[in-house]
Amino acid sequence: QKSSLVIVYHRQPYEEVEENGKTVFRANKSPNGIVPTLKAFFKRLEPGRGAWVAWKEHEEGDPDFERVIHIDDENGGFHVRRLPLTKQQSSSFYHVTSKEAFWPVLHSFPWLFSYDNVDWRTFHEVNRLFAEAAAEQADDGALVWIHDYNLWLVPHYLRQIRPDVKIAFYHHTPFPSQDVFNVLPWRAEILGSLLDCDLVGFHIPRYAKNFTDVARGLTGAEISEVVTTPQHLNVPGQALSEPQMPRTLKLGDREIAIDISPVGADVHLIDDILAKQDTSDLEDRILGRLDGRKLIVTVGRTDYTKGTIEALKGFERLIDRRPDLRGKIKMLCVSVRAASGMAIYDETQRDIEQLVGRVNGLYSNLGWTPIVLYSNAIPFDRLMSYYKAADMCVTTPLRDGLNLVAKEFVAAKNGEAGKLILSEFAGCAVELPEAIYTNPYGHRDLDRALDEALAMDDTEAKGRMKRMRADVETYDIVHWIDSLFASFERVGFDGTKDK
Ligand code: UDP
Repeated sequence: QKSSLVIVYHRQPYEEVEENGKTVFRANKSPNGIVPTLKAFFKRLEPGRGAWVAWKEHEEGDPDFERVIHIDDENGGFHVRRLPLTKQQSSSFYHVTSKEAFWPVLHSFPWLFSYDNVDWRTFHEVNRLFAEAAAEQADDGALVWIHDYNLWLVPHYLRQIRPDVKIAFYHHTPFPSQDVFNVLPWRAEILGSLLDCDLVGFHIPRYAKNFTDVARGLTGAEISEVVTTPQHLNVPGQALSEPQMPRTLKLGDREIAIDISPVGADVHLIDDILAKQDTSDLEDRILGRLDGRKLIVTVGRTDYTKGTIEALKGFERLIDRRPDLRGKIKMLCVSVRAASGMAIYDETQRDIEQLVGRVNGLYSNLGWTPIVLYSNAIPFDRLMSYYKAADMCVTTPLRDGLNLVAKEFVAAKNGEAGKLILSEFAGCAVELPEAIYTNPYGHRDLDRALDEALAMDDTEAKGRMKRMRADVETYDIVHWIDSLFASFERVGFDGTKDK
């Protein structure tokens, strides 16, 4: 059966495991994250009308390779079209071209951009294969929704094969200013492909503005419609706010709708976790071990963009500047080690470990270790207990598409006193006006933010958490799904169940 909504996301939506000699498909272990969120889109369709295109490692010549499988889960059943890629192909398009060339540029680290390793031909080829797989799966007039920069050229190929389908694209990363984006030698091809879409989506207004600036600079595209940025996507006066946002871009006789909708936290899931006895038991155990000390958490993947080093150095300066705090506060740094084996991530990991080792070596005594470093992920439900027990969450990315951790911390606090220090370079900074903002590039500014957070009284901290929680709850993951379907309708998609 062909599909009315085809999601193209490079990773498969399940885990394939061998059980008693049989292959079984299981939902991904993590209950949260983008994979379960995207699957939830299928719930709104007639059963079986959704499909997912992903790659699967495969050495050429396997006659038993199953290209399309059917998954039945709580989302009502959908097809998964698996694209066989060799290790060389997947590594080249994903780890090299995407991660070494695009990722640093997207996050405004152009000096880390590496040209020499890029195999542009393989990138084209893999993107073409994704487009062909999507084209085979899409019904007449279907909507094909493509995710993220590693599939930047899919719209270009898909438009050629299937002029009838609607093409939507969503960027989960930031979109940088034109000064930075234009570093990419393949900028015209990438942009041309994005302009083959009917809908291009971003988390926040600034990324959309950057994209339209690039489009206007490189082509004859013009913004044909703007709207006032709604209050929940703007913090007036904040350095990176946008009073207006583009809604439509015009190129010749074609119109490209611009979608701006930041991913929300799964507040229902968090509330369910908070209601569990295990969650409060773990919180009690954490508080017991803290023995009256304040806990500061910083949580993310190991990535040079995440500002983990900046957070750790800020903490080091804090206990250096303020001896009165020694023995009274503790930092939990969760920096989940990258599995990729890429040199840049190994280096970041080493820097973090060295820094934690140095600070602990300088300040620990038998009864107190200032920083605890976790390099493995904490399961999502357990993380909520740590948030509940924490006094403060320090989220200091140098650049981050959105940063869900900040929203999840606010949700988990559920109106209890807590402080969120938030980098103005995290996408979600436009949504959380009562966070304590910081510019992590400036040491003194992070010092000021830490002092402000520690000095904040409980009434103020509660009030802020309560008001932010109300926003995080309103603009949660369900709201994101609703707003995406509204944008799909804008470009003519009418495939939902109630239609
Ligand atoms: N996360 C988790 N356990 C950890 C660290 C992170 O479950 O030990 C989750 C976190 O709660 C969030 C996601 O991983 O839902 C990371 O998303 P975010 O937007 O913050 O960063 P990304 O990794 O997508 O850049």
